[in-house]
Amino acid sequence: MQRRQFIQNASLTALGIATFGGIKAVTRSAASGNALRVNGKRIESRIFELAKFGMDANGHGTRVAFTQADIEGRAWFIALMKKAGLNPTIDTAGNIIGKRKGKNNALKPIAFGSHIDMVPDGGNYDGTLGSIGALEVIEILNEQNIMTEHPLELIIFSNEEGGTIGSKAMVGDITKEGLQQRSQSGLTMGEGIRAIGGNPDDIQSCIRKKGDIHAWLELHIEQGGILEKENIQIGVVEGIVGIVHWEIIVEGFSNHAGATQMNMRQDALLAASKLVIAVNEVINSVKGTQVGTVGKISVLPGAYNVIPGKVQMGLEIRDLSADKIDMLFKEIERRAALIAKASKTNIRFERQANESKPALTDKKLQQTINATAKSLGFSTKFMQSGAGHDTQHMSSIAPAAMIFIPSVGGISHSPKEFSKAIDMENGANVLMQTILFIDKSN
Ligand SMILES: [Zn+2]
Repeated sequence: MQRRQFIQNASLTALGIATFGGIKAVTRSAASGNALRVNGKRIESRIFELAKFGMDANGHGTRVAFTQADIEGRAWFIALMKKAGLNPTIDTAGNIIGKRKGKNNALKPIAFGSHIDMVPDGGNYDGTLGSIGALEVIEILNEQNIMTEHPLELIIFSNEEGGTIGSKAMVGDITKEGLQQRSQSGLTMGEGIRAIGGNPDDIQSCIRKKGDIHAWLELHIEQGGILEKENIQIGVVEGIVGIVHWEIIVEGFSNHAGATQMNMRQDALLAASKLVIAVNEVINSVKGTQVGTVGKISVLPGAYNVIPGKVQMGLEIRDLSADKIDMLFKEIERRAALIAKASKTNIRFERQANESKPALTDKKLQQTINATAKSLGFSTKFMQSGAGHDTQHMSSIAPAAMIFIPSVGGISHSPKEFSKAIDMENGANVLMQTILFIDKSN
């Protein structure tokens, strides 16, 4: 037996998964015997290499989607994919797709990846970890000469930070108006997609339907501080929160701040202030991880000597359950009615059109990730993602899941964003073992 063949057989046997009937059957032993591990040093050095694309003289990252830096970063990544034998192509939405054949190419592919664009002055780990981690899995399978049953696909989505454009397009959610929208680069989305090798005129060609992909996995930094604070190595993402915005208009009566008695006032700002506190109380009144914020406010007319006549505020609620968001909002509305009555003001809410629906990840995949991480000796926590990700769209066409690793200080979308090399390595190992388990178990 060739040495390579031996390693392949040994590692597959060690996986001990051929005998498992389904994902539910995953146990501690599923991956613990498998010695296959990613190369953590290679992951970290590639993170630093990619960070150089679009880094300005002060060390700040500017690799915004559709800019020259994005184009160069993508070219660097595509070259690595070519070297890894993935024959990368660019779909009409500008997504980079690399394919690796399986033993049975009639099976639907297991897909994984993330994005490599960043927000202006962003960090070097958001998206890039999931992209480089995904490539690392391919490298290890190549080095160990392991062929999976399912074909594999590495996907790098275009313009994630500008509105998850590539993944939205892939699930058929991009409209003509959406392509006209101006992106951070200055180009419209359509022009930007063209600049990176896509074809906005034929955007539908990139659409993948329900059932086209066996499973989708995304490794990502947490971008919050929970894992680090609780000293947990791997986050199993239960879903990506929905976000709803309301404009709140409080109308009172502007009058002389000196000549109007205190009991004669219809002070819009006073009513609005009570409402801000009520929002906080309502959000905190029930168990769960929901968040609610009044994040903007303007006061009219805005003078020392005038009682505020009108206040406009912005309310945002996020949660994994759309019903819970609605329930919380109804209670806020009820409190607002009481405040309005007591303060002789009028309070209106206008729900904004740009809401994003909560997206749940696949329960079976969550269990697989959790069991795989545990079998590798890692502590885990089931958690939600407060930030948006390409996975929220992919979950509408395929069983989808996300693996989180700690962000130091919970800082993201900032040059201070940082994740430790060991955490990145752990996350990529969980990604790899999860892929191998899914491949064998159904
Ligand atoms: Zn991201």
